[in-house]
Amino acid sequence: MKIIGDFHIHGRYAQACSKKTTLEDLERNACIKGLHILGTGDAQHPLWHKEITSKLTEDENGILWSKTKFPFIWQTEISLMYSQGGRGRRIHHVVLFPNGEVVKQFIDALLKKGRIDYDGRPIFGMNSIEFLDMLRSISTDIEVIPGHAWTSFFGILGSKSGFDSVEECFQERAKYIHAIESGAMNWRISSLDKYNIVSFSDPHSSHPWRLGREATIFDLKELTYKNILQAIRTGIGIKGTIETPPEYGKYHFDGHRACGVMMAPAESRKLNKQCPKCKQEMTIGVEYRVEQLADRPVGYVKPNAPFFHSLIPLHELLGSVYNIKLMTSKKLTALYQQLIGKFGTEYNVLLEAPQPALAQVVDPAVVQVILKNRAKDLKLQPGYDGVYGTILLDQADKALKKQKALTDF
Ligand SMILES: [Zn+2]
Ligand SMILES: [Zn+2]
Repeated sequence: MKIIGDFHIHGRYAQACSKKTTLEDLERNACIKGLHILGTGDAQHPLWHKEITSKLTEDENGILWSKTKFPFIWQTEISLMYSQGGRGRRIHHVVLFPNGEVVKQFIDALLKKGRIDYDGRPIFGMNSIEFLDMLRSISTDIEVIPGHAWTSFFGILGSKSGFDSVEECFQERAKYIHAIESGAMNWRISSLDKYNIVSFSDPHSSHPWRLGREATIFDLKELTYKNILQAIRTGIGIKGTIETPPEYGKYHFDGHRACGVMMAPAESRKLNKQCPKCKQEMTIGVEYRVEQLADRPVGYVKPNAPFFHSLIPLHELLGSVYNIKLMTSKKLTALYQQLIGKFGTEYNVLLEAPQPALAQVVDPAVVQVILKNRAKDLKLQPGYDGVYGTILLDQADKALKKQKALTDF
């Protein structure tokens, strides 16, 4: 059975996250999105843990069920800050647990090392090897997945405080790492071939344009923690991933937001990373880092790799057509609900809905953008130095947009 899962979630006690998120919100929006299962997020946080155990019922297979029969698995993210190889390291790890009993032991172990009540994503001073050893001494069914592996600041391969390989970080324990949270850019680095690719959203709110923004598609015989673990560890049972296009991210190209300078890695390498305007070092993006570590050419496709969908969330597509930045606007909400009403879930709209059926519900410009998104055919202005990438509509889409604007309220 096809199961789309998002196993990097945060609740309302994690810093920089919405203070309103509840398990009910997460479930409701997961269903709208087309997700079949979620991680609980922040499993060790005292108040969130209490909410999980009071609202969800755990079965003998390690699946937690809501009252309305939506499944979750125990999950958290831990931030490690330490020094290794003469450099300061800040690495985030996503952790999955086989059951609540193991989570209790994990909480006891963490409490011996520090506090867990101030943030759903708490920080510890131990290194990644000590962390892995601590978890494996509790249960070998706990899975550690380096989170958002390429992000400059907290990724295991990030430019600021990461490593050049998984092995450099975990050394001989790297054999216990089976998957990394990343994307198709991994194909360019042959040393990453042995790690399965999973994608999750790390949402800071439960909004459908955040939750399930990235996700992993599994093919499982039965929904059990063991089967999910097996798929992540062997890759058999991972059908594919849903990712946002890398250019769409906030740190894709290099540049300076304040100077209005943005460039591709090839150009910034020529300039020795120096900003042509202020002469300071530019903020170096993910693409530069991939180029630095890559031993395969641009566009390399790994043979027999699971399929990846490259998708921009529906709200953001609609926003680009009607030039609306506010994702909660009445107009976007109404259009979104119309599409979900007709096709059931957002993933159905983005991936499955046939053109004639879409054309019955929305403007031709919207149909065009949905189909281009599906075909990985949208033109994007790359993000840089904290500025998100943007969708560049072509002339035909723009004309339709102008025409529509006259009749808009
Ligand atoms: Zn993180
Ligand atoms: Zn500058």
